Amino acid sequence: MIRSRMGITVYLVLWGIIIFSTGLYRIRPIFSWSVLAIFFLISLVRIKQQIDFRKPAPHRRQVRFSSLAVTVLTPAGIWSALFIYSMFHPVDTEFKLLMMLTTTGLCSGGTTLYVPDKRLALAYIAILLLPTAILLILFKRGELPALLIILTYFSYMVMITLKGYNEYRYALSNEAKLEEKSRELKRISETDGLTGAYNRRYFSKIFEIEWKRASREGTPLTLIIIDLDHFKKVNDTYGHPAGDQVLKTVTREFQKTFKRCTDVVVRYGGEEFAILLPGTDSQNAFQMAESLRNYIASLYVTYEEFKIQITISAGIASCIPRHTKPSTLLMMEADTALYKAKNNGRNQTKAMIIS
Ligand code: GH3
Ligand code: MG
Ligand code: MG
Repeated sequence: MIRSRMGITVYLVLWGIIIFSTGLYRIRPIFSWSVLAIFFLISLVRIKQQIDFRKPAPHRRQVRFSSLAVTVLTPAGIWSALFIYSMFHPVDTEFKLLMMLTTTGLCSGGTTLYVPDKRLALAYIAILLLPTAILLILFKRGELPALLIILTYFSYMVMITLKGYNEYRYALSNEAKLEEKSRELKRISETDGLTGAYNRRYFSKIFEIEWKRASREGTPLTLIIIDLDHFKKVNDTYGHPAGDQVLKTVTREFQKTFKRCTDVVVRYGGEEFAILLPGTDSQNAFQMAESLRNYIASLYVTYEEFKIQITISAGIASCIPRHTKPSTLLMMEADTALYKAKNNGRNQTKAMIIS
């Protein structure tokens, strides 16, 4: 639709040049000026149409295409009639030659402009060239060279349109594939392969963003660090693949608990997880962490014939960030809280509030 903007005034300009350079405006004034006025009106309609197209209306795509087709094909039909007129009632040879030249030029331009819509591009060149060709075959056998040129040019334009359309589709599908691949790559670079949780690299990025946002807005930012208790023993008792299954299961439970769109569940490393909760205060985070801890303690992770039980320890740090505070503070305090939970016998939650 944007491409079609370029052809808005072309008929008006071309017809103006032709009637003035050949003197047609003096020989056939009413005809010349009427056609010029029609092209002027069509240009106005197309300018209005382009202004309307600027407003987003995805559900009206089909209507827009139809209205575009009408405003593209109508002037082409009028030009085609002028082309016939120049061939059958030549005012002089210069007029005829100029019409031949401009009509073929319009075809080339139309092929390039409308190639994303194959049917529109083909209809455009057919309307411009075929009526003249058919009438020449039927009524003017003497114009064989002109007829052959028109037909050769028509076939050439059809081939170019089809090839151009295929290349356009190919480029479009390549672009879509590339976008899909870059999305996939982004996902891989931000998540942990085993559990599907975000990775540490993503955490560093989002943590800085959320810290700055919370300090701007004066809202709380809470970090929970969770470590699986005696996880080495799980691996030693049931094997590494069983340990992997436990990691996957607990990650799913973490994600189910912290499911707000701003919550970020990260596998920080090994069997340690970081959960970033923008907009959640320490009290709420503590309640959520406690109910999660209780639930995990009651959970049996099934792996082959084993039913594995696991507990977690959690350290919470919460504050309303300020630009004067270092962002590392939250991580340090959450680590200290986790250390306390571990030292206190594991399977528990400890919280630190930073003033
Ligand atoms: P603590 O309660 O003090 O945290 O004891 P722990 O045994 O959980 O801690 P430790 O740091 O001694 O052991 C962590 C274990 O986590 C050792 C390591 O093999 C295991 N681990 C780390 N990453 C993975 C993984 O991707 N898969 C499996 N199966 N195990 C892992
Ligand atoms: Mg551990
Ligand atoms: Mg650990």
